[in-house]
Amino acid sequence: MQFYLATSFLFPRALRLRLFALCILATHMPLLTYLLRGFSTGRIAPAECILLALATIAGAAIALFGIGALLGPVQALAETPHPREAEAAARTDELHHATHEDRLTGVANRRGFLAQVAMLPIGRRKGCVVLIDIDYFKRINDQLGHDEGDRVLAAFAARLCAQLRRIDIVARWGGEMFALFFQDCIEDEVSWSLARVASQMRSDPIALVNGRPISFSAGLCRWKGDELEDALRRADEALYEAKQAGRDRIYRAKSSLQDM
Ligand code: GH3
Ligand code: MG
Repeated sequence: MQFYLATSFLFPRALRLRLFALCILATHMPLLTYLLRGFSTGRIAPAECILLALATIAGAAIALFGIGALLGPVQALAETPHPREAEAAARTDELHHATHEDRLTGVANRRGFLAQVAMLPIGRRKGCVVLIDIDYFKRINDQLGHDEGDRVLAAFAARLCAQLRRIDIVARWGGEMFALFFQDCIEDEVSWSLARVASQMRSDPIALVNGRPISFSAGLCRWKGDELEDALRRADEALYEAKQAGRDRIYRAKSSLQDM
């Protein structure tokens, strides 16, 4: 290391180039010594000189090739993360998934939803938030069993993910309730998307209770990048209205003064 530092003013900074420079200098030493002595004494034999030059070039080429080949694996080893670092990174990743993802459905959980929205760049912090609740979900558990209830939750999350755009955020808010964020959408577009999901729930049910397809109710609210909690509260109020009105419907939050 000391040699490496001490020679930094003589040779290039990059290790590979520095080794090559050192190798060329070392292999040319006999030729240089011969030429120096020959010029100082005036006795140079051209045949010997050419032979020595050819041997020097061949030696330098072999040394350069060998060093280059040996440096390949060394460099690859240096670039490989240390096992302990890789393990720590994997553990951090696992922890992030455990705290931000819902294990049953594989979508984000409440914390993951809020974190994903918070991470959006300023220009994309606008659209609609939606709270969805599966109707009469308790009946699924009661009549078909808790495991079937779990399967329905996972199937519903998968259906939402399949029907919505990749940039929309789907999360399990808790129990049989889901939260969605539709980026850069107005209420009409969101209503239309949700109506399409509702229609598919009827045409291709994920479960039947008393012979009828399960449905959902939804409340949606426009969000313009201000307080998210306020938009979620208003979406929740709209969801409550949808439930009160008989379920299986999509309601919009009543417009606030700000929206008018
Ligand atoms: P509503 O139409 O008013 O929403 O009626 P509901 O039956 O859907 O709502 P309720 O709040 O009466 O019941 C929700 C049930 O969801 C009760 C709870 O045991 C069940 N539940 C919550 N989390 C889970 C879960 O992870 N798995 C299963 N299988 N059931 C769950
Ligand atoms: Mg419910």
